[in-house]
Amino acid sequence: MTKRICLVHYHEIGLKGKNRSTFENQLVTNLHRALRDFPVTDISRISGYIVVETEDHLASEELAAAIRRVPGVARVSLAYKCGLDEGEYCAAAVRALGEAGDFASFKVHARRSSTTYPVHTLDMNKIVGSVLCESFPDKKVDVHHPDVTVVVHVVQGSTYVYAASAPGVGGLPVGTAGKVVTLLSSGFDSPVSTWMVGRRGAICVPVHFSGRPMTADTSEWLCQDIVDALAPSGTIGRLYVVPFGERQREISLAVPQSLRIIMYRRVMLQVAERIALLEGAKALVTGESLGQVASQTLENIAAVNEAVTMPVLRPLIGSDKQEIIARAHEIGTYDISCQTAPDCCTLFMPRRPETHARMADVLAAWESFDHEGMVADLVESVEWRDFPQCPSYHAPKGALREHHRDLAPGSGGER
Ligand code: ATP
Ligand code: MG
Repeated sequence: MTKRICLVHYHEIGLKGKNRSTFENQLVTNLHRALRDFPVTDISRISGYIVVETEDHLASEELAAAIRRVPGVARVSLAYKCGLDEGEYCAAAVRALGEAGDFASFKVHARRSSTTYPVHTLDMNKIVGSVLCESFPDKKVDVHHPDVTVVVHVVQGSTYVYAASAPGVGGLPVGTAGKVVTLLSSGFDSPVSTWMVGRRGAICVPVHFSGRPMTADTSEWLCQDIVDALAPSGTIGRLYVVPFGERQREISLAVPQSLRIIMYRRVMLQVAERIALLEGAKALVTGESLGQVASQTLENIAAVNEAVTMPVLRPLIGSDKQEIIARAHEIGTYDISCQTAPDCCTLFMPRRPETHARMADVLAAWESFDHEGMVADLVESVEWRDFPQCPSYHAPKGALREHHRDLAPGSGGER
């Protein structure tokens, strides 16, 4: 019986020995979680691919699209799975080519991963090719630069036939690169930087600093929407929100105006680092891009960075705004980030922020308010929401647990 399935391709570069099966098992686990709203009956590994089968044996384009957004997936083909019977796989090839859209030329590419199958691939090419030529008399065979390639692949007692194939997001399965805490605003950059480390296999725990109670909580809702847009790919474990408005007011009263932003950022990084330690995360991530705004000069990056010992990753440091915007479109966060909302960044902004801070001035300002007490209080006041799409996320067992207001809809903390 011929079934329509999704064939998942992944890059094997650098995946050898034990590493490789860890990678594959994690990808299978992540796919199970990402596809739980689809009628999927089986997700199994076969010789360098993963096969996703559905109850109705009719895998859909929607299913393929959901698979494509899962990190670690290089490509997804909507394929026909049939037996080893020539008539059956030739018929599947006719169907596959018929669904390939507009094309003028094609070729057949036969492969055998099971050597027990007696027909040579050159003969399979000829057999399938002649059936396709009969069925598509106005199309040309072009073995060098075909518009469409019909792949006929014999693996472990089955034949997989496909012509339609589209790229996935690539990267590595989430859970194979540890955990990071990402600093998330509702702007364009930090959602993209969060997505980028998630695509490289990191479990992301975003932290958003809100201007509440000095501003409305709109930025928090935008951040929740952003995280909802990223979550189906399985990269998000938990979103933390830190109400920061009151503390910003204290800072703005205590330090020279030009150094306010640097002080806010140092406190933000220290709070994020404390959350990271509780979470067992190994790095912090920001959306900074060199020179993009006043706070992103080398001097100011150094002045902020000095507040923490954990590595701070900046995946966008060399990116132009246009590239970041293009990516934001792709990952579905652009429209959300277009909606401006006051957050802690727009609160108590100096008229002339320092662009080339001197470390001595920074450290003097830093000592002029009780930053330690402030960071400890802010960590105590965090609120959070968990995202079940990330199977590798494990919540911290430590102090955070008793003191939070849950952001999840329907919980006591709903706003
Ligand atoms: P973005 O587009 O991500 O808001 P930006 O271009 O506005 O970035 P900045 O305001 O200088 O640049 O912020 C630099 C980085 O600091 C952000 O990318 C983000 O990682 C972090 N950050 C800024 N504001 C917040 C916030 N309210 N909560 C959490 N992190 C923040
Ligand atoms: Mg911003």
